[in-house]
Amino acid sequence: MAVTVWILGDQLLQEHPALSLAEKDVSGNGLRVLMIESQERAQRHPYHQKKLVLLFSAMRHYAEKLRNTGFEVDYRISSTTSMAIENHIQSHHPEKIYTMAASEYRGRVFQENLQEKFKIPVKLLPNTQFLVGRYDPYPDPDPDKRYLQENFYREMRQYFNLLIGPDGQPSGGAWNFDKNNRLRLPKDVQPPVPISFKADEITTSVIEEVEQKYIGIGQATGFDYAVTHEAAQSAADDFFDNRLADFGAYEDAMSNTHGTLFHSRLSPYLNLGLLEPLKLAQEAEKRFLDGKAPINSAEGFIRQLVGWREYIYWQYWRMVPGIDEANFFNARRELPQMFWHSNTQLNCLQKVIWRALNDGYTHHIERLMILSNFCLLAGIAPQEVNAWFLSAYIDAYEWVMLPNVYGMGLYADGGQISTKPYISSANYINKMSDHCRNCSFDHKLRSGVTACPYNYLYWNFILTHEDTLKTNPRMGRSLLGLRRFDSNQREQIKEDTGKFLESLA
Ligand SMILES: Cc1cc2nc3c(=O)[nH]c(=O)nc-3n(C[C@H](O)[C@H](O)[C@H](O)COP(=O)(O)OP(=O)(O)OC[C@H]3O[C@@H](n4cnc5c(N)ncnc54)[C@H](O)[C@@H]3O)c2cc1C
Repeated sequence: MAVTVWILGDQLLQEHPALSLAEKDVSGNGLRVLMIESQERAQRHPYHQKKLVLLFSAMRHYAEKLRNTGFEVDYRISSTTSMAIENHIQSHHPEKIYTMAASEYRGRVFQENLQEKFKIPVKLLPNTQFLVGRYDPYPDPDPDKRYLQENFYREMRQYFNLLIGPDGQPSGGAWNFDKNNRLRLPKDVQPPVPISFKADEITTSVIEEVEQKYIGIGQATGFDYAVTHEAAQSAADDFFDNRLADFGAYEDAMSNTHGTLFHSRLSPYLNLGLLEPLKLAQEAEKRFLDGKAPINSAEGFIRQLVGWREYIYWQYWRMVPGIDEANFFNARRELPQMFWHSNTQLNCLQKVIWRALNDGYTHHIERLMILSNFCLLAGIAPQEVNAWFLSAYIDAYEWVMLPNVYGMGLYADGGQISTKPYISSANYINKMSDHCRNCSFDHKLRSGVTACPYNYLYWNFILTHEDTLKTNPRMGRSLLGLRRFDSNQREQIKEDTGKFLESLA
């Protein structure tokens, strides 16, 4: 019997469940793998050129690995996915298609309609890329209820037995060491440079193709990411050996000189299936148990992986379809042009946008407290912000972007993901970074042409949304701050904000 296993581009798993099942069913002969590079999909946004290189090169390396282990692979570069499947069926006449559920809504709906559309039996297997597929703490969530990330995280830690002592209590005596994880970067520190990878023949030809065919953000040249399981594992080893120990302490720090700091930079590989979240979490635990990393670093990293990453995926499936229409603060402004070229006098924004456009990567606090904080305070429409993030970042996929942008970043979901809007004035940026040191604006001033825009934007946001924010007990301190301002000062905040926003082309 001839069967096809369709492997999606972001499902490059070492153990692919559709492949394993099909192998059992047809025991050898007649099994063919289908992989598709869809040009329509790759042009849906002006994706970062390095992202397209990563995706296509990793797919082609995966296909090559399968071929080397004896599989027949039909690798198609096609204008659309539908056309590729149709042509594949016409050429090879499979009697059945096996595939694993897509991590994104649109892809999954497409798979669910596959049988009907192509008149062929389809075996759609559950997605195994996420740990919530193995253990879902809330299998039937109440649509009206808010589910706190902290509770979700603790459930996941217990279920997967990560940093849990023999007494069933969390290692180190607490679930959370966030209070140790807010250090500013010391002046002379030189964070280790992450490992980089030389382009081989496959990658070099993908770089040329992407440069010729796609008009995306940034440049494909200079691409130095891993594109195989082995290389991605080396990137993980490099993180565990050289950066994990300081990950916790400087998790929230930002620097004008250094981009990655002590972050793992592993999200691009996790999101493609080149690395597995549980293995990484277990390795972080091992480093703690071996005395190689302090508890605040191991716990901090595990929290990001099995707490945040899984929670975000879980929330995505709870909120689609529809999350991309959410706009709690009714933000309508267009995204300023500086997001596409990084020319701005604001030193922090300039540096972080520049990093995103060049590299396709910035670390979490830069995404949250520089970029989305600015967009939230400036009232940029969530759809515009989301489209930019989806285009700019090498690790961007809809399942992770929508909840992070609409939920965590902009609070457009009205608080399903975060318990309060993540907003701050220049005070936080100055506390956690050296960006303000060489900036044209003064982080201490609240009004006037030299005042840092984050300051008046922050107070303007609180003034504008005072009634809504009053209902959130976690906003109490920020609202109390308003009492300092008389009516003239309030007017001044609005005037400065208006002038600044008008100046944004
Ligand atoms: C506005 C906004 C947009 C974001 N867009 C993306 C995106 O497109 N793709 C993406 O993978 N992450 C996204 N994130 C989450 C997070 O910023 C990145 O996962 C992280 O910065 C990746 O860098 P790292 O691998 O060095 O992470 P580390 O700091 O080393 O963290 C370890 C891992 O934890 C996971 N993680 C941590 N926080 C989150 C989170 N909030 N959501 C999902 N996973 C998380 C990632 O897999 C990451 O690799 C976004 C966050 C915000 C606020």
